[in-house]
Amino acid sequence: MSPPVVGRFAPTPSGFLHPGNLLCAMIAYLSVRSRGGRCLLRIEDLDKPRCPAPLVRQCLSDLDFLGFRWDGPVLFQSERTSVYEAVFRRLRDRGHVYPCFCSRAQLHAAQAPNRGDTVYVYPGTFLALTPVEIRQRMQAKAPAYRLHVPDISITVQDRIQGTFTASLAQSPGDFILRRSDGVFAYHLAVVADDAESGVTEVIRGCDILSATPSQIYLQQLLGFSTPVYAHIPLLVDSGGRRLAKRDQAVSLSSLSKAYRPEEILGALAASAGLIPEWRPCTLESLIPLFDLSHLPRTDLRLPDGFTDRLPVRTS
Ligand code: GLU
Repeated sequence: MSPPVVGRFAPTPSGFLHPGNLLCAMIAYLSVRSRGGRCLLRIEDLDKPRCPAPLVRQCLSDLDFLGFRWDGPVLFQSERTSVYEAVFRRLRDRGHVYPCFCSRAQLHAAQAPNRGDTVYVYPGTFLALTPVEIRQRMQAKAPAYRLHVPDISITVQDRIQGTFTASLAQSPGDFILRRSDGVFAYHLAVVADDAESGVTEVIRGCDILSATPSQIYLQQLLGFSTPVYAHIPLLVDSGGRRLAKRDQAVSLSSLSKAYRPEEILGALAASAGLIPEWRPCTLESLIPLFDLSHLPRTDLRLPDGFTDRLPVRTS
């Protein structure tokens, strides 16, 4: 008997959930539910000031409103520092980690990437500091910590995007594991959490595909197994325009004033090719229809008319 499939949805509540997030949630959920698997919810609120409590609450109630029922307790990354500490220590004790005294701007490379962001390749500035130099610098400034990556290529076999290969040394280079303010970085937390939760399948937005080789490398260093990956294409409106996170007009809060949950789910299901036309449907009713191979490989379009009932955009 094959082991149960474990999937997860892992939103960062630094803004309101938008249709792109919801589509990821829906596909991750249906993919495991259609095979009798478990689906977990993990709130990626590592950077607490960017993810204030009202946004976290809104995210939870939006998912509830649409009918998602998660397995097990909801995990909050902000409460899991000791798990990340242990993983960090393992990497540091084996000599893979070094302190870096880089500027604030460079630290932004530690955050989850977004499509369109410039990729910052760390030039290894602080790799060769001596222990004495490190001690001296530490008196003036707390360091961030980076993982030293070898000059190897890592290949992702993605169930939607196909084969994706990246050279670690070229993109992103030595990456941040812990910021100078002590906050653990996205890659470390995601890898630690997925492994501890026994996640076997990661379905998420294609903006994270380029970060996946770094995560696979971390899994290999730590002896964790690599889940199956599927990075779903970007969701655009019926005119092909991108739905940005900051666009309040398409947040779930405004969608839920214009539509019933079944109408929103139906629009997402139609854009994912699960149903031929937009019609109201529940998550339960979509489970038997789920087939990842029906998902278009290019940008996914919301049905015509879906954004018509929403407030007019101001930008
Ligand atoms: N927290 C990330 C986001 O909201 C997703 C991370 C992941 O699924 O691995 O974009």
